Amino acid sequence: MEISTTLSETRVDDARLAEILEDPGFGVHFTDHMFTVEWTPEQGWHDARITPYGPLTLDPATAVLHYAQETFEGMKAYRHADGSVHLFRPEANAERMVRSSQRLALPELPVEDFIGAVEALVKVDERWVPDNAGEKSLYLRPFMFASERFLGVRPSQHVTFMVIASPAGSYFKGGLKPVSLWLTEEYTRAARGGMGAAKTGGNYASSLVAQQEASQHGCDQVVFLDAQEGRYVEELGGMNMYFVFRDGSIVTPAIEGTILEGITRSSIIELARGMGHDVTERRFEIDEWRRGVESGEIVEIFACGTAAVVSPVGELRSAAGTTAAPASTELTMRIRQALVDVQFGRADDTYGWMR
Ligand code: PMP
Repeated sequence: MEISTTLSETRVDDARLAEILEDPGFGVHFTDHMFTVEWTPEQGWHDARITPYGPLTLDPATAVLHYAQETFEGMKAYRHADGSVHLFRPEANAERMVRSSQRLALPELPVEDFIGAVEALVKVDERWVPDNAGEKSLYLRPFMFASERFLGVRPSQHVTFMVIASPAGSYFKGGLKPVSLWLTEEYTRAARGGMGAAKTGGNYASSLVAQQEASQHGCDQVVFLDAQEGRYVEELGGMNMYFVFRDGSIVTPAIEGTILEGITRSSIIELARGMGHDVTERRFEIDEWRRGVESGEIVEIFACGTAAVVSPVGELRSAAGTTAAPASTELTMRIRQALVDVQFGRADDTYGWMR
């Protein structure tokens, strides 16, 4: 993919950038440039370009605004101690976007073009990658949307893929404390045959009322059960789940089409097995959670995703009552450290994850 570049004439100055990178927050500051490429059935992917970051002009009839035909990804660039900048398993994000796009009847962006776009943007805006004190990073948001001006309900004949970037601070500012979870029995995230396995805006739109319900009950996050029986734990609004047993074995809900296959989740399966733990992907009943914590059989629970990496899970609240936080966070913190050390170049990249 040939990429043309038009550099910004109004780049943020060094003093202001230093101020932003000192305390970037999440998703509020954006880098000086953005990547864009267009697709039509006749031309395929064309007109790849890096331009100064700025607003889009969209016709009010642009298809995505009406029928939500869009997909996205979330990943990070990490600065190592020697100043070099690395991506974590970008091909996994590229491949997941292909799967998401297939589900949303969007065109496939070849893996090498996805990675080429992300790399090109990170190179142009390299000074926006924070130093690695306090686990700061540059969050990357590739996304694809139906950009045709047409109100008919059918796959868009004009599609736009973009990448934007935003410096991200440490997820846990006041230190790592367990997240409390609300079990929603009113809402589900995805049904069999639905789009739960795709990273698409609709899944997040539908999770917001459940998240509001969680907040009303004083909880940090919401946990969803399967839509069919309301019996099996699926995932949180933006993280996958893990359960650690007293004998050191680990269980994570199986990928059966309704859960997003997290790249952090996949990496932890490999890491934990490498540490000698038995990891099983299977259905996991909500009652097994309650009974397991009460009996002491389950000793740790954690959630994982790109943003928080790994986060210990505390109390589970629901209409039926409260299940206490599991006893320990020891393995959770060890797995977290192992992953973060690879990402920030403090440990050997034995799995070949960094690029
Ligand atoms: N589940 C959902 C619904 C998510 O949005 C995310 C974040 N992408 C995850 C799980 C974790 O995925 P990953 O480890 O690739 O960030």
